[in-house]
Amino acid sequence: MIKGTVAKVSGPVVLASDLMGSKMYDVVKVGSLGLIGEIIRLEGDIATIQVYEDTEGLRVGEEVISTENPLLIELGPGLLSSIYDGTQRPLPGIMESQGAFIDKGLTIDSLEREKEWDFKPSVKKGDTVKTGDILGTVMETEYLEHKIMVPPGMKGKVESIKGGKHTVDKTIAVLANGQGSEEIKMMQKWPARQGRPYDRKLDPNLPLITGQRVFDTFFPIPKGGAAIIPGGFGTGKTVTEQTLAKWADADIIVYVGCGERGNEMCDVLTEFPELIDPRTGRPLIDRTVLIANTSNMPVAAREASVYTGITIAEYYRDMGYHVAMMADSTSRWGEALREVSGRLEEMPGEEGYPAYLATRLAGFYERSGRTVCHGSDGRIGSVTVIGAVSPPGGDFSEPMTQHSLRITGAFWALDTDLAHRRHFPAINWTKSYSLYTPQVEEWQRDNIAPDFKAVREKAMYLLQRETELQEIVQLVGPDALPESERAILEVTRMLREDYLQQFAFDEIDCFCIPEKQYWMLKTIVIFNDATQEAITRGVALNQIMSLPVKGEIARMKTIPNEKAVSVIKKLAESIKGEITSVEVL
Ligand code: ADP
Repeated sequence: MIKGTVAKVSGPVVLASDLMGSKMYDVVKVGSLGLIGEIIRLEGDIATIQVYEDTEGLRVGEEVISTENPLLIELGPGLLSSIYDGTQRPLPGIMESQGAFIDKGLTIDSLEREKEWDFKPSVKKGDTVKTGDILGTVMETEYLEHKIMVPPGMKGKVESIKGGKHTVDKTIAVLANGQGSEEIKMMQKWPARQGRPYDRKLDPNLPLITGQRVFDTFFPIPKGGAAIIPGGFGTGKTVTEQTLAKWADADIIVYVGCGERGNEMCDVLTEFPELIDPRTGRPLIDRTVLIANTSNMPVAAREASVYTGITIAEYYRDMGYHVAMMADSTSRWGEALREVSGRLEEMPGEEGYPAYLATRLAGFYERSGRTVCHGSDGRIGSVTVIGAVSPPGGDFSEPMTQHSLRITGAFWALDTDLAHRRHFPAINWTKSYSLYTPQVEEWQRDNIAPDFKAVREKAMYLLQRETELQEIVQLVGPDALPESERAILEVTRMLREDYLQQFAFDEIDCFCIPEKQYWMLKTIVIFNDATQEAITRGVALNQIMSLPVKGEIARMKTIPNEKAVSVIKKLAESIKGEITSVEVL
């Protein structure tokens, strides 16, 4: 056993002597309470430890014991619907035994050890298997088949395999190979900081359908993509992350919350278990793993929580599932890195963040992707990462936003002005972008409409024209514009109010299927074209704006998804005739 002593305590950073033989990132238990920490620097026999628990009361001279292992995440049936802290300690379990607060130094199993799962083998004695091959399945929830895979690095001939009810730590199969035999349990462990292996990465060209018009149509994210949502306080980061967690067409959701405000995580913890999955009618928590850092947890735990989250996400990806991970807010993690780096007296980079901030962020976001998984069946899975960023004062030039946007493909910029005007989601359509748009265009063309791209580009062109025209209006007033340009401003108002605005709490509009999105947008574009044509004929703009069609366009979003396409298609077809029949006065 490697044992040392506490030599210095500085907030979450502890120096320990005599820990010879330890490795970087080994987990240690610090002091008489056994606080969990990780070695983040080794110099001679002095180890620097970042402690994931409150170090108040810890004294110099207390014992430090190394577990001689990195932070290992327990992976197996029972992860879904769990709520964990940053180091994967189950929160409700802790709450039951300790009240609302976690007792310091508490060690508690991440996966329940008593629960039995009905394992159905899919290989038999004598079969040869390799890393990633599926040995059998367990119904983890009513809808999710948990695949028990050969853990990374293992292979061999199946010597024995046992179906039936087992707990996660019982041997279910034995593999024989040149080195002897290896036992496989339903649970495997994996170091959080290390990406799980896969066969190869694929182009992310299937969109993740979010049901949110501004994202799916204008700034799409594919399954396996990475996006950031930067925004000042109160612009809608949390509402957006939660809306995506509810509606995105992913099989599994991993939600990592680093609370900005004290009770924010509490809201998530109480609300989430009550939400219903619209696709299955079952509680949404059944496909969700929540990782929560409440504000009474020390900063260093925030770093562990993002790694814990992404490791769980990769594990389900390896089974061939589509996983979406939300991290709210990654800025809290950045602040933790800054605080620890400061205490280590490292040379500060921009705004006091450590110089390795960019590499840390890149290392994290690069774990997203659509991959061919290990295993003989060539199954495909994906991890999509959506990280919220809270730049101080909403200033996007700060390091967290800048470094994150360089390594992610979609930038969804929240805008304080839009939020003040209650334009929600407050995504700024001129600042936001998605580098994935060309990659998902083929899918949109084949699965939604051949002219999807043309319609989107026309709408975006009009929105850009609006910005230019508004500058003129501000200088010389609206009367200076010709009718055709005033018509553009009417159309872009429709685009903003009747299309881009989507109230997250509206029963019908909270989720808009892609076909409805297309027909809504196409209808507005048809309205625009017909209006321009009529104006060329000499019709006055106010004649067109007093037609009933204007109100019908505004009501499109209130039509339920099931009937939306047929109703809106009819509206689109009637617009042209209605406007063409307006006579010149
Ligand atoms: P942040 O996490 O950026 O501080 P929140 O996500 O808590 O901000 O959003 C602040 C408020 O803005 C919410 O309480 C809600 O009233 C409103 N809001 C944000 N996004 C939406 C949306 N898509 N639909 C309706 N309201 C929204």
